[in-house]
Amino acid sequence: MAQLISGKEISAAIRAELKEETARLKEQDVVPGLAVVLVGDDPASKVYVRNKKRACEELGYYSEEHTLPADTTQEQLLELVKRLNGDERIHGILVQLPLPRQIDEQSVIAAIDPDKDVDAFHPVNVGRIMIGDYRFVPCTPAGVIELLERSGVELEGKECVVIGRSNIVGKPMAMLLLHKNATVTICHSRTKDLADVVRRADVVVVAIGRPKFLTGDMLKKGAVVIDVGTSRLPDGKLCGDADFVSCEAVCSQITPVPGGVGPMTITMLMKNTLTAAKMRAGL
Ligand code: NAP
Repeated sequence: MAQLISGKEISAAIRAELKEETARLKEQDVVPGLAVVLVGDDPASKVYVRNKKRACEELGYYSEEHTLPADTTQEQLLELVKRLNGDERIHGILVQLPLPRQIDEQSVIAAIDPDKDVDAFHPVNVGRIMIGDYRFVPCTPAGVIELLERSGVELEGKECVVIGRSNIVGKPMAMLLLHKNATVTICHSRTKDLADVVRRADVVVVAIGRPKFLTGDMLKKGAVVIDVGTSRLPDGKLCGDADFVSCEAVCSQITPVPGGVGPMTITMLMKNTLTAAKMRAGL
């Protein structure tokens, strides 16, 4: 039977480290500060924002929540971003996506000071990840790397297959694995003979949003499976992109959904915010 990679446990361990470091920074009068901006009242986004606020409280960060009405104009949002860029208490700015239709997401992301872009979505930070000289790493792929490394999974020289090529998960995921000296293949909806490609992999990261897409017969025996997918089934239950039962019978380690990648994402946001605060303080 496969070993479970617990995002809950690994996330708790990282948060304990961050809490300790935050306490040490406070002795030097540095308090990491995160501003979360929410436009509109999307229920899922509200939950994410609340969880981010709670994480800040738990770790001893300063946090601000800016909730703007759904009819906010792009100019109004850009004005707020500009103000937060200049606020000394704020080290990280996170604008919760998606934004309402009247606002151009890329313009808003580009307006965030790259040194405060703790989501690592700004083109400057995306470029830095590409060349391997980065301070912030996109939270979900960074969480996956932590899960792998803290579970003793060796990446150097290994065949890694990433399924999904989105800008927030698949592409940066592939780059981070490449920087760990893995041999990386990216699959997407136009990939031919996807199962044959996946069967080569020592490590499979699946991030497509299709419940139970990855099945055990697509895996090499002993592969490691990281399931990023989170879909809601008709009964309301959360479901990953891997068919847990058939994959578990073949692989050596696997993340559950929920309790795998999910808990890591906010923790990595907290890590990026701490990094931003240290950078600002010249530490
Ligand atoms: P996305 O932007 O919708 O991208 C989906 C990707 O999957 C695309 O590249 C698409 O290929 C590919 N794809 C779709 N169907 C496919 C198929 N049948 N075979 C191969 N590739 C296929 O999604 P995302 O934002 O990356 O998110 C992916 C999943 O991860 C979602 O379930 C999301 O909820 C979850 N997620 C979880 C966390 C977390 O914290 N746990 C964070 C972020 C996302 P094309 O490019 O060819 O269309």
